[in-house]
Amino acid sequence: MVQVLTSNVIENNPFEIVKTQIDKCAEILKLTPAVTEVLKHPLRELHVSLPIRMDDGSIRVFQGFRVLYNDARGPGKGGIRFHPQETADTVRALAAWMTWKCSLMDIPLGGAKGGIICNPKEMSQAELERLSRAYIRQVYQFIGPCKDVPAPDVYTNPQIMAWMADEYSVIAGEPKFGVITGKPLCLGGSRGRGDATARGGMFTIREAAKNLGIDLKNATVAIQGYGNAGYYAAKLCQEMLGCRVIAACDSKGGVYNDKGIDPHEAMRCKEESGSVCDLPGVEKVTNEDVLTLDVDILIPAAIENVITADNAENIKAKIVAELANGPTTPEADDILFQNNVHVIPDFLCNAGGVTVSYFEMVQNTSMYYWEEEEVYAKLDKRISSAYASVLEASRKYNVNMRQAAYSVAVKRVVDTMKVRGWV
Ligand code: GLU
Repeated sequence: MVQVLTSNVIENNPFEIVKTQIDKCAEILKLTPAVTEVLKHPLRELHVSLPIRMDDGSIRVFQGFRVLYNDARGPGKGGIRFHPQETADTVRALAAWMTWKCSLMDIPLGGAKGGIICNPKEMSQAELERLSRAYIRQVYQFIGPCKDVPAPDVYTNPQIMAWMADEYSVIAGEPKFGVITGKPLCLGGSRGRGDATARGGMFTIREAAKNLGIDLKNATVAIQGYGNAGYYAAKLCQEMLGCRVIAACDSKGGVYNDKGIDPHEAMRCKEESGSVCDLPGVEKVTNEDVLTLDVDILIPAAIENVITADNAENIKAKIVAELANGPTTPEADDILFQNNVHVIPDFLCNAGGVTVSYFEMVQNTSMYYWEEEEVYAKLDKRISSAYASVLEASRKYNVNMRQAAYSVAVKRVVDTMKVRGWV
């Protein structure tokens, strides 16, 4: 058994990692083999081909996916990624994590995820629009405000959500903007959705610091990844928590300044030159350096598998706040736990995005829109209470925070499947 797990883990295939995590959780919750098996399978997955006319007149065929992992607790929910390295297994894993994320936040939604294999950095706006609309035409029958509700994720944004909501509404013959979340405000988006993922993460860091007795006013932070999550994390670490962000990086490399990095300057630099690396007056460092710096808080905010058995031993942060999905491999998890690093697991730390998406769905249904403060207060309450449940479970079962989060989230999914008569 151990052999099988080890070889799976070595591949770092995210869906194999999900199954490993489910096995560990099944031990803690003493789940039957049948229930464990059900949890290891997505309930439905679509693979679609999307022929697109490119601006130069040529036709290219893109591959897309939409996976509904589990809808025991309510309609599927989860983003759509546009990524050149997208695979069916990555989408399956991310859909599973969405299931646990919605359950942990105690929102009445299941888990889903979508993806298209493409490189949006090399595509024009017109090509991206055609691709987004073609995707909706292919998945139309399987999504909907009461079935499965997509949202933004890696390399997708409110404009892409707007094209998708429009295409869905045109096919439906009526405005049905509630089919998707993360929309622009004028199309029924929620206030506070833009920075929700990072803001939710800040609330969990605040709770973790209280628990560990860390003074955030003197704390230092390193951020790996400088997209939506990474940029807002840098900004809010300073503005909300009063921390000093001393390092940041993106796919092209990183920067370091002991006195602190200005998050806005770093973003301006990224917008102008394509990378934070060109920020003036700071030391250049590698991505690996950013992960292993002597800081209080490390925030992986990009993609999967960046903290691995190769570098986990060198991580000096006291808190690893996983704003990315799946940044830590299971071997790395064990090493961090042994070294007393407090990991705020992904589907707790980054749950602010989907939580405000859920608020967006509630606002769309009631056609009444909330003030920003109301969104923030409701998010704070829900995510802080989820943090407390996970901490309590980690003490009760004497397991790391990820396994504790699994135990809380998976138990709710299993209880609901039982009530529905599925298992
Ligand atoms: N893509 C985000 C996530 O991974 C948000 C999903 C959503 O809002 O549905 O949590």
